[in-house]
Amino acid sequence: MRYLVGLHEKIVMRFVRMRMEIRQLKIMNKGLKNQKEGMEFDTSDEAYIYYSTYAKEKGFAVSKRNSRKGSDGKLMNVTFQCNRGGKAKVTTINPVKPRPQTKIECPARLNLSICRDGRWRLNKVALEHNHMSWRHNFNVFTTNAKFKEFQKLFVRRLNCEVMSETKVDYVRSKYEVEEDIIFGEFKRKRRVSFIVDFNGETNEANCSCRLFEFKGMVCQHQLAVFHRRRVERLPEKYVLRRWRKDVKRVHTKIRINYDNSSSTIEARRHDNMCNLFNEVADLAEDSEEKYEIVIGRIRELKIELLQSSVICGSNLLSDTPNASASLGDVAIPSKESRNILDPKAVTRKGRPPTTRKQGWTVVCTPACCVQSADGSNAFRHKPFFHPNGHQYGQQMIVGQPGPFFYMPTYPPSQ
Ligand SMILES: [Zn+2]
Ligand SMILES: [Zn+2]
Repeated sequence: MRYLVGLHEKIVMRFVRMRMEIRQLKIMNKGLKNQKEGMEFDTSDEAYIYYSTYAKEKGFAVSKRNSRKGSDGKLMNVTFQCNRGGKAKVTTINPVKPRPQTKIECPARLNLSICRDGRWRLNKVALEHNHMSWRHNFNVFTTNAKFKEFQKLFVRRLNCEVMSETKVDYVRSKYEVEEDIIFGEFKRKRRVSFIVDFNGETNEANCSCRLFEFKGMVCQHQLAVFHRRRVERLPEKYVLRRWRKDVKRVHTKIRINYDNSSSTIEARRHDNMCNLFNEVADLAEDSEEKYEIVIGRIRELKIELLQSSVICGSNLLSDTPNASASLGDVAIPSKESRNILDPKAVTRKGRPPTTRKQGWTVVCTPACCVQSADGSNAFRHKPFFHPNGHQYGQQMIVGQPGPFFYMPTYPPSQ
């Protein structure tokens, strides 16, 4: 039973995630359409989703800075900012153990206000941050688990000390790094020394602990030397291909849900292409001649695709009109919709017009209108509650046509 409940929760979560992804994609497309004359959004939440997706791509976090309400209590103006914006508050009580500060007055932010037509328009945009170092590049490029490991190493680097430097030749130097290693249940300390070879031309460092050679991970001694030599950017060599977030892996293409829509556009495209390839292979497998033709064509296609990706910097599937039409009957949005452009605002004279004087209207959301329980097409403007379910809290309707509806968490208004 517990297993079934867990499974049910998993299915619901996947469905919710899928809906969110589709919503995000729609917002992205809308934002891009309005890129020329300043971005516009239907709600401030949409703007927030856009900015947080953009932020995720660039490698920072977003928080809400402030908002202003009109006399009728409606939002008129909101500001979203980088998570590291704002002044640091000193909350340290014990001066021996100062609390770490995250706020460093980062200026990156987005300001929006509501227009007369009820849409949200970008007023001010600041894109520059006052942080973003090579530690940050590592975050963008590696997977989350690896990044956590890297953070631990970074803490261990604090136990390291560069003791001496000897020049080998005009580019290479040898560093002696000592580390305080704590071990055993009595937390005994021992000082161990390591030798790091540093090449000033390529910014490569080889450590005698051989952690990189064994685990493919930069070690704390190398980090200490990088810090000493003020290396801004971690050399490409130290971010292994298998840990990059942007690397394409075969197992990400495997179908995990068996309803009609796959979770990502790439997976759906891959699916459609594989289906077509399978059909072609079935037709050609019994004759040597047909086999040669198919292999020849696919090789030509491969060369063509490789060349076009070199010219355009992206794969050309969406640019060839016939290719996407013949791949399958599922409509596929183009590849460009995934590129998130910088936000852009156009300044206008004076305070933006507001909707303050307008009366409010009732808007039906999908969650408040449900089909009658007897199956007729009449829609009731009231939440539907299953007779055997809980009265409050989340509940899923069984036997309803189409996708599930999620119940609101408030009691029904009678
Ligand atoms: Zn920032
Ligand atoms: Zn080392």
